[in-house]
Amino acid sequence: MRMTKGPTARDRVAISALRGLNWVSRAAKRGEGTVIGGRAGLVISPNLLATLAKGRSVVLVSGTNGKTTTTALVATGWGGDVLTNATGSNMPAGHVAALAAAHSEHVALEVDESWLPEVIAKVQPRVVVLLNLSRDQLDRASEVRQLAERWRNALIDIRDCVVVANTNDPLVVYAALEATNVRWCDVPTPWQSDARSCPRCTLALEHVNETWFCSCGFAKPTPLTTSLREGLEIDGETIAMKLQLPGAFNEANAAMALTALREVGVDLSEAVQRMNEVSAVAGRFTFRTWEDRTLRLLLAKNPAGFEALFSALAPDNSDVWIAINARIADGRDPSWLYDVGFETLRGHLVWCLGERRLDLATRLEYAGVDFRVVDDLALLPRLDQPVELIANYTAFSEWLSRSVPC
Ligand SMILES: [Zn+2]
Repeated sequence: MRMTKGPTARDRVAISALRGLNWVSRAAKRGEGTVIGGRAGLVISPNLLATLAKGRSVVLVSGTNGKTTTTALVATGWGGDVLTNATGSNMPAGHVAALAAAHSEHVALEVDESWLPEVIAKVQPRVVVLLNLSRDQLDRASEVRQLAERWRNALIDIRDCVVVANTNDPLVVYAALEATNVRWCDVPTPWQSDARSCPRCTLALEHVNETWFCSCGFAKPTPLTTSLREGLEIDGETIAMKLQLPGAFNEANAAMALTALREVGVDLSEAVQRMNEVSAVAGRFTFRTWEDRTLRLLLAKNPAGFEALFSALAPDNSDVWIAINARIADGRDPSWLYDVGFETLRGHLVWCLGERRLDLATRLEYAGVDFRVVDDLALLPRLDQPVELIANYTAFSEWLSRSVPC
């Protein structure tokens, strides 16, 4: 038995400082204040995250894409009083701020990929959900491999914890393979461009039908706990999922969220009913009104995110609006647009928006996709039906504030 210590005097000072700063920040309308207060708390007491997490049942969710949605599905599916970092502050400062705000026993935290090893070490989670690993914004494929290695090292020694891992992402498999307790999830994963070569030996991976393998023996693991093929099955239990959230990628997120909830003793038939009610997450997937038009706002920040959304577009050749910025939060270099398979959009007419609309238009030209460059929003067409608007990070925020809920 490990001795559990309560908060030290230093921890209590840190928590008070954190709450005070958050209150001041909110009063001054400087946002939720979560990061400011959390940073201050961690400066005063570097071990604050461990102290605040102690004794709670924590599920961590990480991956390049889908972590905000999956964390929201875990929290909603769990039911009852669940603490989560809903503002998307997914680094330790955000985690301590969320944990200091309430005493809930059940906690679902979204974790930035690069912070996951440290957060695992501090909070000693019950479950860690590993969704996927792909390049984000810029070509950082080598960094993605380093991340997989760091995840692997963090998971090797972890005890009393279950890892819920996606079998169709070889980098995730590489990271999870040495963990003691793994629940493998066979869920649709359209993007595998960052795992063409074996994470173990660097030879080319072979993808055949629904499996993959390397000549060195590294291969898609079995047995599977969760399968999302003809329907959803978790450990032999068939689950009827009817999500309001669009796309196969959200079904994959929900399947992994349910697999995690099973490990903390949640009844899955009740959990899936709660998940089915979710129609939007942090403004994403919502229908909004702008200048008498109805838009469905979709966020995508990197090639894998774009391709997941393309696969969810209606097959009716409807117009698509795409808004691209390249500010600091988006990544200054928009060359990642060349890694997105825009060829899929042939047959659609794409309206190019955002500060980097010309970069987008150039990419669409090469892809053989019809497009219009929109220099003045007043020139956007009237619409008979809702249009899908896909935007990257800061462009998404602009359209969220520009539009209102339907
Ligand atoms: Zn290999």
